[in-house]
Parts: sequence; C-alpha cells; structure tokens
Amino acid sequence: MKPVIKLKPGKEKSILNFHPWVFSGAIAGDFPNLEDGTWVDVFSASGDFLGTGHFHKGSIAVRILSFRKTNGDAAFWNSKINAAWAIRKSIGIGLGNATNAFRLIHGEGDGLPGLIVDIYNKHAVLQFHTVGMFRERQLIADALKKISDLNLVAVFDKSHDFKTGTQNSDSNIWLWSTESNPNPEIPILENGLKFLVNIETGQKTGFFLDQRENRSLLGKYANGRSVLNTFSYTGGFSVYALAEGAKLVHSVDSSEKAGALCKKNVSLNFENSPHEFIETDVFEYLKQMGPNFDLIVLDPPAFAKNVSSLKRACSGYQNLNRVAFEKIAKGGILFTFSCSQVIDSRLFRQVVFAAAAQAKRDVKVLHRLSQPHDHPVSLFHPEGEYLKGLVLYVS
Ligand code: SAH
Repeated sequence: MKPVIKLKPGKEKSILNFHPWVFSGAIAGDFPNLEDGTWVDVFSASGDFLGTGHFHKGSIAVRILSFRKTNGDAAFWNSKINAAWAIRKSIGIGLGNATNAFRLIHGEGDGLPGLIVDIYNKHAVLQFHTVGMFRERQLIADALKKISDLNLVAVFDKSHDFKTGTQNSDSNIWLWSTESNPNPEIPILENGLKFLVNIETGQKTGFFLDQRENRSLLGKYANGRSVLNTFSYTGGFSVYALAEGAKLVHSVDSSEKAGALCKKNVSLNFENSPHEFIETDVFEYLKQMGPNFDLIVLDPPAFAKNVSSLKRACSGYQNLNRVAFEKIAKGGILFTFSCSQVIDSRLFRQVVFAAAAQAKRDVKVLHRLSQPHDHPVSLFHPEGEYLKGLVLYVS
C-alpha cells in the first residue's frame, strides 16, 4: 500500500485532464510527512483514484507517472521507456545513419516527469530532476539495456546539478558499461556532421540536441555570409554554418571548456576553415564589435528560471536583441532564441519587437522555431514547450 494523497474538493479537474502536476495547495488535510521520492496514490475528495506518482516537497508536490494504478516495477519502466522509443522510431528519429544522437525521454512530454534520457551514439545519459526519479535509476538503466534495437553500450548518470543533498555524491557515474574504462568524450553524428560530446564535464547532458533542426535551417542561410554565433557552447551552429559555405564564422562563449571543444569540433569536420573562437562575455563582445556580420545567432541560457525572475529576464532578452539589431549588417538574418520555459512565444515575440523598435530597424519574420520532435510536448502539459526562436530579416 502506498501513502495516499487526498485532494481538496474540485481540485481533481486538471489531473482528470492528464496534467501530471499536483500542486501542494490542492492537497487536503494534514500534509503527510513523506520523504521526497516516495510513491503516492492520489485520490479526489470524493475518493476516486486519479493517479500514482512521486512525492517531492515544494510547490509541485506530486508528479504523476501513471493515471492507472501501478507499483512502479520493472514492467512499468519497460513499458514507459518502450513507448517513448516507439514514438521516436515512428517519427524517424534514432535509426538513421546521419544522426545518432537524440532525446529518448523528455520528462512530462513522455509521461515521465523528472527524467531526461539523451542518447549519444549508443550511450544513454540520464538526468534526474526529482529524488523520485533518481531513486529509480537502476530500474531505468535496466529497462534501457533491454531495448535491443537501441544497441546501447553504456548508461551514464549525469546528475551533478541535481540538488538533493547527500544522494548527490552517487551521481555522475557509469551505471553500466560494456567497456572497462569508458571514455566520457563521445563522438556523435548530427545530420552527417561530427561532434564530440563530453557527457561528464559538458553542460546539461553534454550537447544541446534541441537545436538540431534549427542548426540545419541556419545552414540554409549561411552560404557566403559572415556568421556570428553567440553563446556558441561547443559550436553546433558554427559547424553547420561552415559546412554550408559561410565566409567567416566567429563563435563567442564565456566558457573555456566549451571553447576547447568548439575548436575541436570545427577541426573534426574541416581541415582549414574561416573560424575563430572568442572566449568572452557576449554582451561585452556585442558592444565593441562593428557591423561586420550579416548572420547572427543569439542562443543564450535561460534568463528566467521561474516566474519571479520574468521581468528581469525580459529586459535581458530585450537588451541582447537590441544590440544585435543595432549591429547586424543591412539585409542581415538574425536567429534569436529563448529557452526559458516561463516566457511563451507570444511574450518572446513582444520582447523582440520592443528591441527592434528601440534599434529602429525594419524587421520581417521569416520563421517561427521550436524544439524538435524528440522533445515532445504533451497536449495536456503545454508547459513542456520551452524552446522558441525567430528567424528575422533585418532591412
Ligand atoms: N547554441 C548552443 C547552446 C548554447 S547554451 C548550441 O547549439 O550548442 C548557452 C551557452 O552560453 C553556454 O555555453 C554558456 O557557457 C554560455 N554563456 C552563458 N552566459 C554567457 C555570457 N554572458 N557570455 C558568453 N557566453 C555565455
């Protein structure tokens, strides 16, 4: 028997609509004294079973993993992870030769709140955002190993940014590997281009897989252009631009480690290339540069981590975009992104509008961009849509 969470009257509606979050304010009576990560059954005020999930102290008190009764055993994990893999295969992700890195599990989008699984050339990298998911790591690794056509050779637990106190010391380890001394720097292919991904020291799970399609689109505009790739990380957009014949590419990032891998990634693909990495603050770089670039990428980290930082984040995005509008050459193309979940596409567009108005540039929208299909959004959980981008023509 799992502990029971009972909701206040009328608070069951969103869960009946398959929204996976139970907010602490919706829970009736004494808040049970539960340990983070405990499996709980959630019932309505009238006693109807609603779902089963992980308890976690905080504003989201329960994350539902199943709207049917389950005891979270190996069969449960096999079926959930197989379902996610079946979706990827049915939409053509994961089996091709040109791309061998993709997201297999995207949290709520795959009915598994708190869990991210990225695949890098047969290596699964797991990231946990709740204690509950962290506790399931062995069952998850076992379920992954069982999927024969994933052909995995290793499973890595990459959770060093996971703030759970003592349990954290178990993280950032290989949960399973066919090699005795596995290398954390993994060569991958994305749309035929080569990249090295360091799953141990890299940001997130090691690579920003969510920009794959947007990098491809950038390639189409890159020929003959001078490209400035800001917040370049390990050079994803830069490599695509060079592959498609950019005249010049400057990658700018403040991280030394990212820069080292960025340079390596460029030289993996091209013997000689008009590429330069500049290790500096993007805001400083933009301030002092001239109108040399006719294609600029702005892909900053999330400026807003929550609703309370929304206002400051919006002015951050506005400043960044304003300077880019001021500096981009006439007839230039701007790829501008926000990965802040709390900034929706409408708000992002307003912020970019304000920036263009301030810079007094005439701007046309060429594309509205989002995250790729291996980062699915559940229709019942619109909050899962976090990446938004605009491609703009600046007259
Ligand atoms: N576009 C990248 C992902 C960007 S992630 C890709 O396709 O892979 C965000 C990057 O911004 C990180 O590499 C981080 O080191 C860098 N960064 C964050 N703040 C910065 C700043 N103020 N100046 C320069 N780089 C910054």
